[in-house]
Parts: sequence; C-alpha cells; structure tokens
Amino acid sequence: MLVSLLGIFFQTMRAYGVEEKYRIVNSNTQDKWFGSTYVRGGMNDTTLKVGGWGDKYYSLIKMPVDLNIPGAPRVVLNRITLNLHSINSLNRTSMRKWFVRSSWSEASTMDHWSMTIASIGLAPLPPVNGLYSFDISSEFYYWISQTEPNYGILLEPENTDNTSNYFASSENKPEWRPYIEVSYEKVPEFRLPLPGNKRWKLTVEVGGKDYNTQAAVGDPFHTGNTHYSLDFSSHWIPLAGGTEQTATDVPIYAAAGGKIVGLANNVRNPNGWFVKIDHDYDGNVNTGFQTVYIHLKNQPNLSIGDVVQKGGQIGIMGTTGEDANGNPTSTGVHLHMTFYFKNKAGTGPDGPSSSEELNFVRMGGILLKNYKLSTTWRTDLNPDQWNPTYYGSSSPP
Ligand SMILES: [Zn+2]
Repeated sequence: MLVSLLGIFFQTMRAYGVEEKYRIVNSNTQDKWFGSTYVRGGMNDTTLKVGGWGDKYYSLIKMPVDLNIPGAPRVVLNRITLNLHSINSLNRTSMRKWFVRSSWSEASTMDHWSMTIASIGLAPLPPVNGLYSFDISSEFYYWISQTEPNYGILLEPENTDNTSNYFASSENKPEWRPYIEVSYEKVPEFRLPLPGNKRWKLTVEVGGKDYNTQAAVGDPFHTGNTHYSLDFSSHWIPLAGGTEQTATDVPIYAAAGGKIVGLANNVRNPNGWFVKIDHDYDGNVNTGFQTVYIHLKNQPNLSIGDVVQKGGQIGIMGTTGEDANGNPTSTGVHLHMTFYFKNKAGTGPDGPSSSEELNFVRMGGILLKNYKLSTTWRTDLNPDQWNPTYYGSSSPP
C-alpha cells in the first residue's frame, strides 16, 4: 500500500514541468492548392503543390486549433509545429508563409482570388520525401489568442524557376494527413499569495500602471514589455464588498508549490528580503515557472533547496530594499510579485520567448494578464481617487 501511494505521489510531482505532446488531426481539415494562371480553380485532391514555372502554385492549409488539452488553458505551450508529408519533392523550392485573413472554403474554386493575406516569413526547405515539420508557435499563439483569425496558412513559392514541393493533402493516406503538434507543459493553478476570504487592493498592474497616478511604471520593474509583475497593498475589503481596511503583518504564501531557488542574504539590495520559488520542483530555473516575492519584512526562514507547499507561508509583507545609494526602493508596505517562465518575465530585454506562456497563467481563476487597475475616477471617495481594484483570495488560509 505504501509503495502504491508513493507511486501516485511521484507521478503527481513529475507532472510539473514535464513536456507532453498533443496532436491536432481532424477529418475536417481544410486544404487545397491553386495556380494563378493555368489552374484558376482551387484543387481539392490528394496533393498540395507549391512551386511553378512562369506560374505559381499556392497551397492553403487550415486546422482546427481549439486547445483541447486536459487542463487547458492552465498549460504552457513550448513549441507548435505544422507537419506535412513531403512526396517526391525532387526539385524543391523555398517557400514563404502567409497568414490568411479572410475566409475560404475547400470546396470553392473561386474564393481564393479575393483573399486577404499577410506575410509571416519563410518556411524551411522540405525533405524530398517524408515528414516535413516546421515551427508555427507564433501563428498558433495568435490563433488561439484570437489576435489573428484562424483562416490558416498559405504557402507560396519564392521563385518561379520550375521548382516545386509536393505534400500529401487531407485526402491522401490518413497517416500522411497534415497535423499540428503542440508540445506543452501542465502547470499549477496559482493562488493569490495573500490570506483568504479577503479581496486585496492591487496598486500596480500587469502592464505597469500605478494606482495612485495611473501613470506607466518605469522599466524594468513592472511594465508589460519587460515584467509580468503585480503589487498588492495591505488594504483589503471583505469578499462580499464593503469598507476598505488595512492589515498589519500580512502573511505571504507560496502561490504554488515548488523549490526555493532564490533568497537574499542581506537586506541591502533593491529587492530587500525576497524569496524565489521554482514551481517544477527541479531547482532549474531554465524549465517551468518561477515566482518571486520581494520587499518582505524579515529575513525568510528558508534555505535554498527547501520545498514549499502551495499556501505555505514564506514571509510577511514589508517594504525592505534599497538602491546602490542607500535610498529605499519601496515607498510603502506592499508585496511585489513577479512571474517567470524559464526565468524570463516578459518580452523585453528578458527575451522574446516568454510572454506567450505567461499569457496562459492564471492566479485565483483569473488570467494574469487580466489583473488590471480601474481607470475610473471617483469623486465620491475622500480624498478623490481612482476607483480601487480588489482581487479576491478565497483560498485558505
Ligand atoms: Zn512592485
């Protein structure tokens, strides 16, 4: 009995930060090819052609991209590929990818003449035969976030030099059908790192606006382009609403379980006393998620390598931290919390690959990116101030 319990325990632990794959293959896949001069109609047959000689054959591919992953959207997307089966592409040609921005139908022989498209760069050269796989992480992300409508990708030959690529279409062998492969990691649902049964006042949002001034907070501490950070004050209201109150010595809890990977040894640094947690438990910040909690009141009673449970206390809200000149970096008691994926907190100097994953992170049931300050000015408040935004923590304690 003990052995089987341990087995379950380890399986649960290993679910963090482990890459899994998910394939989107659908019998409703839409694809066709068409030529601009000789073949004016769209061709819905067993082949997708890209290439030409004094002529260009284009191929259109649309996939259903609902994120049908168990636990979605509480997953991180590591890499998305579009996979085609190359067939006798002896005289290969380089290809350009385009977003298709207007609707088309596999059945229509005319609609592709009036499509709106936008270039999204080059696709790598396919092999002569066999699996042809290329990265469409950005395209997929735009589709599921609905930044771009999903009308698919168009492949266009770069040249008209009598070179062509041939791929199996969805009418070909089932095992050669185009598919999207999603490599992802399951992640924990974060909780608010603050006591439960209260709604806590947000003073700096993801995106970097300050509650008091509604002004953008300067780099590199909060702005959306560089950091996925939030500030919570010690002010709260009951879950049901009511008068704002101020708490003292607010305990700070781990937003999810993990291993301690960062601690201050000395309070005289810009973060003051702080704790950093690696949420895939491997202690390697180059995989999975991390969170950091800064300006804590006291030196945390933790060591590097300690494992903390979700909801375990890691400190008390404070206002510690100073810059190189000894000036305080925090102007009042608050919790500054930053989220990282693979130790990157945003899209700016931290690197371009991180914010897409962070866009899928939830805390307290709300997507991180949706933690926003109200922009409504309240003249009925004394003194006049911006309408405060409070976020509820229903988690015990
Ligand atoms: Zn802050």
